[in-house]
Amino acid sequence: MSHKYETEARGHVWKRDEDDGEIDIFAYEGGEYHNGPLCVNCGYGFCHHCNDLPDEACSKPALEGEFTTVNEQKLLGSVDNGTDRN
Ligand SMILES: [Zn+2]
Ligand SMILES: [Zn+2]
Repeated sequence: MSHKYETEARGHVWKRDEDDGEIDIFAYEGGEYHNGPLCVNCGYGFCHHCNDLPDEACSKPALEGEFTTVNEQKLLGSVDNGTDRN
């Protein structure tokens, strides 16, 4: 079963259950009856009861097969501010 926030993750890499490989929807805890997926890259999580999709794009999207150095991350971070609008 696929979730909407799985296909439209906005760059987030959701933490997965070690046993069954499914997205761990209890990784993010927002209080009683509020829980959802948590991004292993940026630490962002949201309640999947309140929201279908993450309201923030990942601040540290993983580039598959690429290794980003700390210096490059700093550069990306300074350039990336405020550019997320369409
Ligand atoms: Zn909630
Ligand atoms: Zn993320």
